[in-house]
Amino acid sequence: MTEELVRIEDLKTYYFAGDEVVKAVDGVTLTLGKGEITALVGESGSGKSTLAFSIIRLLPQGGRIVGGHIYFDGVDLAALPEEEMRRYRGKRISAVFQDPLTSLDPLMRIGDQFVETLQTHFPITREEAEEKAKKLLETVGIHPERFHDYPHQLSGGMRQRVMIALAIATEPDLVIADEPTTALDVVIQAQIMDIFKRLRDRLGISFLLVTHDIALAMEVADKIAVMYAGKLVEYASTQDIYREPLHPYTQALLRAIPDVEDSSKRLVYIPGSPPDLSNPPPGCRFHPRCSLALERCGREEPPRIEARPGHMVACWLRGGE
Ligand code: ATP
Ligand code: SF4
Ligand code: MG
Repeated sequence: MTEELVRIEDLKTYYFAGDEVVKAVDGVTLTLGKGEITALVGESGSGKSTLAFSIIRLLPQGGRIVGGHIYFDGVDLAALPEEEMRRYRGKRISAVFQDPLTSLDPLMRIGDQFVETLQTHFPITREEAEEKAKKLLETVGIHPERFHDYPHQLSGGMRQRVMIALAIATEPDLVIADEPTTALDVVIQAQIMDIFKRLRDRLGISFLLVTHDIALAMEVADKIAVMYAGKLVEYASTQDIYREPLHPYTQALLRAIPDVEDSSKRLVYIPGSPPDLSNPPPGCRFHPRCSLALERCGREEPPRIEARPGHMVACWLRGGE
C-alpha cells in the first residue's frame, strides 16, 4: 500500500457569479499517494483544474471551496487561514502551468528568478543559491550557462523545463502540473514526462498531472482519476484502468484514443457534450450520453463503490443499492 500524501474528502468547489452557481467540483473524494504520479483526466470543463487548484487554494475570481476537506500530511488545507496556507503554497506544494510565460518574469534573467525563489525559502547566500540553481537546471537537462538568459531566449520546451526546475527548487512534496505539455510537440512532451518520472523516482516527489489526454496519462501515471462534470467517476491504478476500465465514460475515452499502429481503425467519439455545470442533469451526470444507461440512471446518482481493492467507480452497472 502506498502511503497517502493528500486525502481529499467530499470536496465541493463552486464559482459564484451573480445569481449563477457553477458546481465545478461537486463532492470529490480522492487520495494522492506519496511518490506517485496521479493523472486527473476528463474532457474540457469537467472540473480538473478547479480540483487541482483547490489543493493549493489558487482559484480564479469567484471560485470558493464550499465544503469538504483536503488533508495534506494530516492538516486540512481547506480550513487553513490564508497566512498559514502560504507556508504550503509554492513551498511544499508547487505548480507548473500550460504556459510557462505566465509564471516566468520576462524581464528577469532565468538565474535571478531561481535565486529569488531560493532565498525566499531558504537562508542561503547568493553564491549558494546560484550553485543550487545551476544544479536544478542540470536536473531538467538544461545547460547551466542558460542561467544568464532571459525567458524569451529559450524555446517553449526549455521554458517548461525551467518552470519544472523552479517548481522543485523549494523541495516540494507535491507538484501540480496543469496541462504542462499541451502546447508542446510530442517529442518534447515525452522528454518532460521522463523528467516527471525521474523526479518521482529520485526525489520521491508526488505529481498531480492534469490532462485531457488519457493516452498520455496511461503512459506516465501510476494512478488515474477520471472526472466527468464535476464528479470523480473512476479511480484506480493505471494497470487496472488498462486491464478493465469499469465506467462507461472511461471506456469511451479509451476508445477515442487514435491507434497509431492501425490508422484504418475508426475513432469512436463520445456523442453529445458535457453538461452545463450551473444546471447539471439529475441522477448520473453522464446519463444523457451513456449508451448503457438504465432507467434509474436519470433519477438517482450512483454511489461511489470500491469494485475491487483500490478500484473506485460510480456507476449503477457496477453495483450500489
Ligand atoms: P479544461 O480541460 O478546459 O481546462 P477543466 O476540466 O480544467 O477544463 P475547469 O477549468 O476546472 O475544467 O472548469 C470547470 C467548470 O467551471 C467549467 O464549467 C467552467 O466553465 C467553470 N469555470 C471555470 N473557471 C470559472 C470561473 N472563473 N468562473 C466561473 N466558472 C468557471
Ligand atoms: Fe451509464 Fe448509468 Fe453507469 Fe451513469 S450510472 S455511467 S448512465 S450506466
Ligand atoms: Mg483545466
